[in-house]
Amino acid sequence: MQATKIISRFCYLIITLIFILPIFPNNKYILNNAQIITSENNFIPFLGYIEINNDIIENVQQGLYKNETQNINVINCNQKYVVPGFIDTHTHTESIPGMTSQQKLSKLNKDIVKNYYVQLPKSYLYFGYTTILDLSLGNKKGVEEFNSNIFHPQLLISGGPMAEKGGYPLHFLKSDHSFHSIDSNAKNYKTQINTAISNIISNNGVILKLYYEKGFEKNESLPNLSEKSFIYSIDQAHKNKISVIVHANSLEAYNETIELNHDGYAHGLWRWGNLNYNPKELPPEVKNILNKLITYKIAYQPTTQVMHGILSLYDHNFLEQEDVRKIIPKKLLDWLKNEKNQIVANEIKSGITKEQALEVFNKGQQALNYLAKRNAFLLFGSDTPSAAIHTNLPGYNGYLEMLNWSKAGVTNSQILKAATIDNAKFLNLDEKIGSIAKNKTANLLLLDKNPLDKIEHVNSIQKIILNGKIIARDELISNL
Ligand SMILES: [Zn+2]
Repeated sequence: MQATKIISRFCYLIITLIFILPIFPNNKYILNNAQIITSENNFIPFLGYIEINNDIIENVQQGLYKNETQNINVINCNQKYVVPGFIDTHTHTESIPGMTSQQKLSKLNKDIVKNYYVQLPKSYLYFGYTTILDLSLGNKKGVEEFNSNIFHPQLLISGGPMAEKGGYPLHFLKSDHSFHSIDSNAKNYKTQINTAISNIISNNGVILKLYYEKGFEKNESLPNLSEKSFIYSIDQAHKNKISVIVHANSLEAYNETIELNHDGYAHGLWRWGNLNYNPKELPPEVKNILNKLITYKIAYQPTTQVMHGILSLYDHNFLEQEDVRKIIPKKLLDWLKNEKNQIVANEIKSGITKEQALEVFNKGQQALNYLAKRNAFLLFGSDTPSAAIHTNLPGYNGYLEMLNWSKAGVTNSQILKAATIDNAKFLNLDEKIGSIAKNKTANLLLLDKNPLDKIEHVNSIQKIILNGKIIARDELISNL
């Protein structure tokens, strides 16, 4: 080949690169020929394409992308389904399902514990959770540890919940926790609350969690934050643009807190005191509270997996499921299967029968059905793990939560709405996440099957797009 020809080809290449690279850098691509499901179109699928530049969605259009230049990476989705990455607003990333804190600290379990935390972020992503909110984590250090993994969802934290001194759950906790203890009877209770809220802000907390819980069985008279403490905390949080979620699951707790101007409940209303369960009709007292919830537009996070997780303790094959094997490291799985290690599970089973647990679960399902039919503001949160039990596993618990909602009569589009845009709105993050729209973070899921046909199809994920990076689902399976 003549020297001049080589030079001219070389120059041509350089010129091409100069002109094309700035316009189409390598990290820009298009998801073409996709069935897009997002709140912008009321969860009605439309055929379109999504332009992604680095970690941002640059454009979403109906119709097919016409290949005007060969230098852009166009990925044909073959009319598969693209939904926004899911958000779970109720997790506890420090707790290991099935392990008490004492078991966690035992030297014998050192490797098992280490492997769990390495796999944890991948397990959430495996089931499509690209953003999770930890309601108990209070410091940046915990977030840094979680983020040290190559693949991890966006982890948001509460910055430490607030509870009455000696009340639930402080009564049960040892010294190492990030809860803010408030003495409502002290003269300086306002100062204590202000300090707690500044602490939440300085740790980049996105939510204030308050507790109303008298306890269970033997501990049924634990003290709670006073009404004054509740009102002042909620007011201060709102002044700082922080939403407030209240831990409550009994009729009494809902009654005591429903008028206090908070934004949501962290559990379903499943404890009804002496009121009986009738599958055909909710008691008027329960209806009354649920109606107020709708009128005041208070968000409701059913956390059905709390009770369903207890029910699953009676299922001896729970840990044998294929999905479980994929997200839990082998040694931990073997350890969890050993009934001698299931301390909390055994305690729970000795305190509640399967039939009793089922009735409480059904009460929660009935309340959820009532709210869904009336289009209440539903928050999606799995409460993972709700206790040290092996039936609340990261990521998978969210999938099971969706199945419970569907069984309660929540429509598939309502489930998707709660797990995407409504969770984002509750966190005041809907300008960045929660739907497929221009200028939002490119957190997307490519599904094989339509989740609107059957909610189980949310488990047909092919690829997870996290901050614009495409991850094949198989890459997230535990290899430990
Ligand atoms: Zn919880």
